[in-house]
Amino acid sequence: MKRGNLKIELLLALKLSLFLVLFLFPDSFAWAHPSSIYVSLFQSRPRVETLYLRAPFVITNPIRVVVGDGLFELVDDGGAIRVTQVSGKKRRVILRAPHVVISDRSRAAVEIGPDLTHMRKYYGQLTVSRRPVDRQTGRSGGLNVVNLIDSFNYVASVVGGETTPAFHKEALKAHAVLVYTRLSPKGRHPSIGDTTEEMVYLGAQHERSEVIDAVNEVDRRRLLFHERPAQAFFHACCAGRTSRGADIFGDNAKALAYLQSVPCTFCKDSPLYGTTTRQLPAAVFNREIADSEPQVLQVDQAKRIVRAQVRKNGKVSVLSGYQLWLQIGQKLGWDKAPGTRYQIEKTGNNYTIKSSGGGHGVGMCQWGAQGLAKQNKSYAEILQYYFPGTTVEKR
Ligand SMILES: [Zn+2]
Repeated sequence: MKRGNLKIELLLALKLSLFLVLFLFPDSFAWAHPSSIYVSLFQSRPRVETLYLRAPFVITNPIRVVVGDGLFELVDDGGAIRVTQVSGKKRRVILRAPHVVISDRSRAAVEIGPDLTHMRKYYGQLTVSRRPVDRQTGRSGGLNVVNLIDSFNYVASVVGGETTPAFHKEALKAHAVLVYTRLSPKGRHPSIGDTTEEMVYLGAQHERSEVIDAVNEVDRRRLLFHERPAQAFFHACCAGRTSRGADIFGDNAKALAYLQSVPCTFCKDSPLYGTTTRQLPAAVFNREIADSEPQVLQVDQAKRIVRAQVRKNGKVSVLSGYQLWLQIGQKLGWDKAPGTRYQIEKTGNNYTIKSSGGGHGVGMCQWGAQGLAKQNKSYAEILQYYFPGTTVEKR
């Protein structure tokens, strides 16, 4: 495995790891398959002051303007959104409006970004509005962009962004089924985010042709358990065995009989299969996580921590292994423990964190799906392996 691949893989792990419990367990599922969904873009930025747009695109609201070429800037000028054409030093205000709606033109994706080095391309419709003014400072709240996108393009972008070009078609199809499954209860939500808290959605650049073929073949099928959409968890690499949902996410996942622990050495090609070792100064660990080594109270059959006792500022509490892992990632960086199978040891003036795999370890192991696909398993067989008792929706 080349060094570059390792980097991609680490990125993958981080992207997949944070599939949070926010998504878990709505009372009832909306059954309708959404044909299109709303996604709030650039959610990883605390605040977007300016948006840049590169033509071609069409402004459809407040007035229709067909734009062939050029660069445009959108800012909140205190009372409305101001759209300005920028050409060298020349600036020309095109319009001002409370919100601006932009559409792709002749299926050429709209290029948009919060700065010129982070431009992304999106199909569909983009609605730019102003966030509420900050009451304390009186400052403008910045800009909000929501992409109305066909669910096919969304699934293709997510699957393309979460996999590498080396992935086998059946592994891509298994992934596409999981993304469709996760969309099914979203009909009630006004919009979803574009970060790891939901699914990472980086726009049209990730719709590779082999991914489009895979998504097409899946034909919007979902993963079902007793005829209802399953909770479609996935992670980058389990490094030997996946975990039961209840052991990672707690009692809420207990009723989900298909989130079982299954052996998996099919993910051996993943650079995260082995042990990742990271050291950090004791002072940093003490300040951010705990006064001393967390005491492991219970591990599951995949050797992931179920519960640990943590002392912080003299106060003792019991956390799930997953909660502690989230803290490590959020406060110390996601490279410290890419996978939820981790150990923490104090060695002299340092803490050493060892982990294997990437992501939370529940549901489908992505690199395992790739390994099974290489052994000629179909996407349905792959999914039934990682989610025992489920079926793929019939057509
Ligand atoms: Zn695996």
